[in-house]
Amino acid sequence: VLFNKYQELKGNIRVMCRVRPVLDATEGNEAQILFPDLKTSTQIDVTGPEERSSLGTISRRVVPFEFDRVFSPNVHNEEVFGEISQLVQSALDGFNVCIFCYGQTGSGKTYTMSSTDGMIPRATHMIYDTITKLKEKSWTYTMEGSFVEVYNEDLNDLLTPAGEGKKKLEIRHDDAKKQTTVLNCKTVALDSADKVEMMLKQAQNNRSVAATKANERSSRSHSVFILKLVGENSATQERCEGTLNLVDLAGSERLKHSQAEGGRMKETQNINKSLACLGDVIEALGRGSAHIPYRNSKLTHLLQYSLGGNSKTLMFVMVSPLEAHLKETLTSLRFATKVH
Ligand code: ADP
Ligand code: MG
Repeated sequence: VLFNKYQELKGNIRVMCRVRPVLDATEGNEAQILFPDLKTSTQIDVTGPEERSSLGTISRRVVPFEFDRVFSPNVHNEEVFGEISQLVQSALDGFNVCIFCYGQTGSGKTYTMSSTDGMIPRATHMIYDTITKLKEKSWTYTMEGSFVEVYNEDLNDLLTPAGEGKKKLEIRHDDAKKQTTVLNCKTVALDSADKVEMMLKQAQNNRSVAATKANERSSRSHSVFILKLVGENSATQERCEGTLNLVDLAGSERLKHSQAEGGRMKETQNINKSLACLGDVIEALGRGSAHIPYRNSKLTHLLQYSLGGNSKTLMFVMVSPLEAHLKETLTSLRFATKVH
């Protein structure tokens, strides 16, 4: 509903903020009320850091941020999905759609995107239901999934196990059709709901094989679930091709160069660079700029034809409710404001 309401006013880019709940007692002791009750469903007020005035008094300013929607900690994935279901429908209607989760490690990106209750399984379930209904109207759909990871500005296939002599993935753009294929990338025909679950598990396993510290690795890489939807109507001969990209971004926490050396240093620079580049691309699109710097990072290069043009983009900025994370929270919200 919201999406259409803003459509004409604000183009095809939306930004929504989600605050995760306090997870346990340990956190509970530490947590303060960073976020007073949300006044509206589009504004979030953050109690900023302590500031000392010229007279020496210490106070904390409340910093308001405005988004298309703000989800408070008690909101479940079901309600979050309610806000994106129209985008999933758009992919079925032949649009290219990108949904990103941005935020520091531990803010709820993976929980929102790829947990068993998250946006990926919910989106595929909705697609199965819709495809079944559309059969009555002579539409036949095929759904094909791939799962890649951008790590250190390299593209890896998450559906092929590490040992199996992986070929290098290459991005191929068809500029005339405005479509992208990834050469040498495994694609899975998703003809039943359990295939999706299998695929998510497989990606998880392959990732753990590839890295000893799998969690650490996943928080330092971008994972991109690519769903290609092709529909054909046997009565009208209509055809539509859409893509739904669901992206779990690398942790946005500022990584200090001083703490990293060698390979780690390069990794850190690449994460900072690619997130900044994504921000630049979305911001340039929002401004209607003539030049969009897609080529500045692997991720934006891969998603070139799903960002801009007719495409629809949604960025979730995920934040933690903890005082300890205040600085990162403010940084994330400022980033999200910039692309909004
Ligand atoms: P990230 O992927 O951003 O590093 P995770 O999604 O792994 O963060 O979330 C960190 C922890 O918080 C996980 O244990 C996750 O289950 C929990 N969590 C995150 N968001 C929620 C939520 N909305 N409700 C309940 N638990 C959550
Ligand atoms: Mg994660």
